[in-house]
Amino acid sequence: MRIRPFTLIAVAVALVAGAGAEASSTAARGVGFELKRTSISPQHPTFDAERKIRLHYGFAATHAVDLRIEVRRAKGDKLVRVYRERDARPGGRLARVWNGMTRHGGVADDGRYEFRVGPLGGAMKYAGRFRLRTHVFPVDGPHGTRGAIGEFGAPRSGGRVHEGFDIIADCGTPLLAARGGEVKKVGYDPVLYGYYVLIDGLKTSQDYFYSHLIAPPAVGRRDRVRTAQYVGRVGKTGNAASTPCHLHFEVRVHGDPVDPEPFLRAWDRHG
Ligand SMILES: [Zn+2]
Repeated sequence: MRIRPFTLIAVAVALVAGAGAEASSTAARGVGFELKRTSISPQHPTFDAERKIRLHYGFAATHAVDLRIEVRRAKGDKLVRVYRERDARPGGRLARVWNGMTRHGGVADDGRYEFRVGPLGGAMKYAGRFRLRTHVFPVDGPHGTRGAIGEFGAPRSGGRVHEGFDIIADCGTPLLAARGGEVKKVGYDPVLYGYYVLIDGLKTSQDYFYSHLIAPPAVGRRDRVRTAQYVGRVGKTGNAASTPCHLHFEVRVHGDPVDPEPFLRAWDRHG
């Protein structure tokens, strides 16, 4: 059969015109997509924790499809991250890990997020909601404050000021890394801090300092630490011998101590 060049061009133009969004959504509608068995783990997802934030899901469809998976901020419905699963097969159990990073390479803020899943070009389905935390409260047990004397900026002997915030807890209470990162320094300072550990927070300009530990920290210099990882126990070493057992906690921004109390109160509320 002979086809005249003009006819060929017309066919090609028609094909290109039909390959837009309308064609793919028609295809998506045609697969009978249905989202099934969704769940999110762990129950309290935390940035850079040992357990990754994971959406588990399955779906029904007439054949394999390309899927779009979205992470959206619940407030304002802002798109935070998009994934594509090529040629996903219906019927099985699938999983998508989100590392807590935005599509612009920053750490997502604390708050509520949701997963959505749908066939590429088709309607997105709600797949579950969760609260992301970027930090945890560092004292893992009953705790309290020391009042004014334990606050940031309180006067200390020799004209010093208090560069951290004191959290009272029973000696031996586990201490958790408020934020993951790399251990910058561990040591023993008999004059002030006793046993201490300094952690350079991952993807933040903040360092986190834990002191008066009961014994040497459970992590060593250059160790990679995850958010909420056990790093030691509350004690009263250094100049804390005559005080109730407590954690002297500091947040340093580019090396300079800032008042950690607002952070601690926010992390504590999360429970
Ligand atoms: Zn202190």
